[in-house]
Amino acid sequence: MQQDAIIIGGGFAGLSAAYILARARRHVTIIDSGTPRNRFAAHSHGVLGLDGKSGLEILTDARAQLAAYPTVTFVEGEADAAEGVLDDFHVSVAGHGSIAARRLLLASGVEDRLPDIPGLSERWGKTVLHCPYCHGYEIGGGPIGVLATQPMSAHQAAVVADWGDVTLFTNGMPEPDEETLALLERRNVTLQPGTVSIIETGTCDMLRVRLENGRTFDVKALFVAAELHMRGTIAESLGCALQETPAGKILTTDAVKATSVAGVYAAGDNARAFGNITLVSADGVMAGLGIHQSLMFASHS
Ligand SMILES: Cc1cc2nc3c(=O)[nH]c(=O)nc-3n(C[C@H](O)[C@H](O)[C@H](O)COP(=O)(O)OP(=O)(O)OC[C@H]3O[C@@H](n4cnc5c(N)ncnc54)[C@H](O)[C@@H]3O)c2cc1C
Repeated sequence: MQQDAIIIGGGFAGLSAAYILARARRHVTIIDSGTPRNRFAAHSHGVLGLDGKSGLEILTDARAQLAAYPTVTFVEGEADAAEGVLDDFHVSVAGHGSIAARRLLLASGVEDRLPDIPGLSERWGKTVLHCPYCHGYEIGGGPIGVLATQPMSAHQAAVVADWGDVTLFTNGMPEPDEETLALLERRNVTLQPGTVSIIETGTCDMLRVRLENGRTFDVKALFVAAELHMRGTIAESLGCALQETPAGKILTTDAVKATSVAGVYAAGDNARAFGNITLVSADGVMAGLGIHQSLMFASHS
């Protein structure tokens, strides 16, 4: 049976859109491969009324609530291709064949790619962190590192300085310009040149940042701006317009989260330069409203 909408990605954005469509009694299929971006962190913070709850738990609860709506179908798996035009899209899912729908929502998120430094990736979401607003409070002050990965890392270090005593490890990045150096000085950020060779466990569960020259620095946490990449190639294959941001390429959307391709919507980290659970949930709600309105007011609905 043709669905009103298929949502590719059942994370925070996708499920938020699903509530809107389910409550409008529209037939919606959510395809999800079960790997939300924050799965590495045991707790999520700053989410209204849910501070400290794990992201996976929030999603599990939302899925259970959505499953109670008779027009919602969940498909566990990876959507590997999508094609079609307004009112006639087809999405194929390995092991589940092809599913048809009038609208598509791309809510598949982004992937964080970390620098290839031994000891970094296994600590991601625990003591190697992406955002002080999400996890800075729990560090409780003290020595904190920021690993430079891009020119904006100096700004990140200046921000993180509100959460502790920051050392910016330049790791081969060019020395910041004078204005930035002055900002770092005002924010009491220490600049540490040299290449980072490994992240180890230091004393008292601290992280030990070891430089190639042998010097070591113990910090309570290390912030890293990962390279963000949209997941999969479905958006490109459909011809959706993309735009460059300092955080990487994202999908271009309008006020109701419609992409440049008629009938295709996008919400979540794949369609905004900075995402967190609340922001992408709001995007999902907006996409759900946009899809519903377009289904209602299309001439033959
Ligand atoms: C380590 C870490 C900790 C974080 N902590 C916080 C926090 O404490 N508070 C906060 O507000 N924010 C936090 N964030 C940010 C937050 O996780 C993201 O903003 C949010 O997950 C983005 O939601 P999304 O729905 O766009 O994508 P995701 O949550 O990543 O969900 C995308 C979903 O799509 C699925 N998917 C992808 N491709 C396909 C496909 N082809 N077919 C089917 N399914 C597919 C994935 O499996 C996934 O389930 C954190 C991020 C990281 C990296």
